[in-house]
Amino acid sequence: MLDHLAYEAPKPKVIAGATGDWELVIGLEVHAQVASKAKLFSGASTTFGAEPNSNVAFVDAAMPGMLPVINEGCVALAVKTGLGLKAEINLFSAFDRKNYFYPDLPQGYQISQLYHPIVGEGEVIVDMGPGVARRVRIERIHLEQDAGKSIHDMDPHMSFVDLNRTGVALMEIVSRPDIRGPEEAAAYVGKLRQILRYLGTCDGNMQNGNLRADVNVSVCRPGDYEKYQETQDFSHLGTRCEIKNMNSMRFIQQAIEYEARRQIAILEDGGSVDQETRLFDPDKGETRTMRSKEEAHDYRYFPCPDLLPLEIEQGWVDDIAATLPELPDEKKARFVNDFGMTEYDADVLTAEAENAAYFEAVAEGRDGKLAANWVINELFGRLKREDHGITESPVNPAQLGGILDLIAKGDISGKIAKDLFEIVYTEGGDPAEIVEARGMKQVTDTGAIETAVEQVIADNPAQVEKAKQNPKLAGWFVGQVMKATGGKANPKAVNEIVAAKLGL
Ligand code: ADP
Ligand code: MG
Repeated sequence: MLDHLAYEAPKPKVIAGATGDWELVIGLEVHAQVASKAKLFSGASTTFGAEPNSNVAFVDAAMPGMLPVINEGCVALAVKTGLGLKAEINLFSAFDRKNYFYPDLPQGYQISQLYHPIVGEGEVIVDMGPGVARRVRIERIHLEQDAGKSIHDMDPHMSFVDLNRTGVALMEIVSRPDIRGPEEAAAYVGKLRQILRYLGTCDGNMQNGNLRADVNVSVCRPGDYEKYQETQDFSHLGTRCEIKNMNSMRFIQQAIEYEARRQIAILEDGGSVDQETRLFDPDKGETRTMRSKEEAHDYRYFPCPDLLPLEIEQGWVDDIAATLPELPDEKKARFVNDFGMTEYDADVLTAEAENAAYFEAVAEGRDGKLAANWVINELFGRLKREDHGITESPVNPAQLGGILDLIAKGDISGKIAKDLFEIVYTEGGDPAEIVEARGMKQVTDTGAIETAVEQVIADNPAQVEKAKQNPKLAGWFVGQVMKATGGKANPKAVNEIVAAKLGL
C-alpha cells in the first residue's frame, strides 16, 4: 500500500537576502461557495449569471422584520466537507454577527461563525511530486454569508448594487501557516479544490469567484519555523500581511513572491512589517495597501440573536459520512497499487472523479497499464486538442475498451489501433465492426506474410547482399513488407520471417 504518511516533506522556499537567507510562511483562508441551490438563510436561488437583483428574498434585502432560516442542506455540505478533510465535526456550533457597513450588505452585518465553527481541525495532503508531499493542517471551517456586488463601471455618475450573491452560503476554510512557498500555496488550493469537487460540496469555479483565497504571508529566518512548530508560539514567526480575494493560481504565486520580497526589503532596511490587508494588482504584479491595522475594523462580533445555536446529532453526521465518495488520495494509492501505474499517471487519472470513473470502466477486465496509456495519451491528448473534457468525449469507455480488446486479440497492431481510434472518435461506431468492414484486420496468416517477404527480397537483390553483411538492414525489409501490406501485417511475424528468409 502506498502510504501517504511515508512521503518526504518538500523543502521550504528560501530567498537569499543581503543579510542572509529568509524563508516563507503562508496560511490561507479559502472561501468556497457551497454547492447548494438555495442561499444559507433564504430560499432564493444561487444561479450564477442571473438578471441582477432577481435572486433576492426579503431577508437577503434585510427588509424589516424578516428572519433568517437555516438551510439544512448547506449545513450537511459543510459537514461533508469537514469529513472529507478528515476534520473534527462540532456537534455544537453557533452564528455570530460581524458588523460592518458595505453598500452591498444591506443588513449592516454578516452572519458568520467566529466562536463556535461547525468544523474543527483537519488536514490536506498537498502533493509536490512523486513521494513528496506537505501536510497542511486545517484550523477550522465556518459557514457564513456572502455579500453582494457593487458595480462602479457601468455609469460615470452612479454605482449599482446587485444583491444576487447576498446571502449565498460560503465555507471559510482556514489553514494553519503550514505552507512554505508559492508553488505549495497553488498546489494547496488545487488539492483543496479537487477534494471539494470530488465531494460535490463546491464546484470550484475560480473564474466565477466560487473559490477564492485570502493569502497570509510572512518571512522568517531558517530555524524559526521549526521553533514555532515545537511550541505553536506565533512570536517565532514574522508579522504577516493578508492579500485579499485571489481567484487565480498564477496570481496567488506572483502575489506571494512579490509580497515576500517586499517584506524582506523592509526588514533588511531595518524597518518592520506592518500587519495589514493588501490587494494584488495583476497588471503591475504588485501588492498594495488596502487597509492597515490602525484602520482595521472593529467588527463587534456578538452571537446572532435571530438564530439558535446549531446542534446536530452524531447519527446525522454518521449518515453523511456513509455517503462520502472515495477521495483523491485513496483513489491514487489504489490505482498505483492495483494497476501498477506510476504516481504521475495516477495523478492524471484521478485529477477529476469523472476521469477516474472513465478509466476504471475501460480497465475493467483488461490490462490496466495499457488502458491507462490509452486513456492518458490517446484520449486525453485528443480531447485536449479541442479543449474538451471527459464528459464531452465522443468515444465512450465501451468503445475504447473494444479497441483495446482488438489489440489484445492480435486483430490489429498498435499503429492500426490509432487509426481506428481516430475513426471511432470522428465517426463513432463499434470498433470490431469497423475493423471488419474496412478490412483493417492484422495479417497474422504467415503464408501471406511469407509471400510478401519473398516478393520484397526478389525485387531488391542489392539490398539482400547488403543485409547479409549488415544484419541491422533487416529493418528495411520489415518496413517494405509493412508498407506492402498497408501496415496490417503482424510486425512480430514479419520480423521473424524476414530474418529467416535472409538467413540471419
Ligand atoms: P484573522 O482572523 O485576523 O485573519 P487568524 O489567526 O485567523 O487571523 O489567521 C488567519 C490566517 O493567517 C490563517 O490562515 C493563519 O494560518 C495565517 N497566519 C497566521 N499567522 C501567520 C504568519 N505569521 N505568517 C503567515 N500566515 C499566518
Ligand atoms: Mg483573516
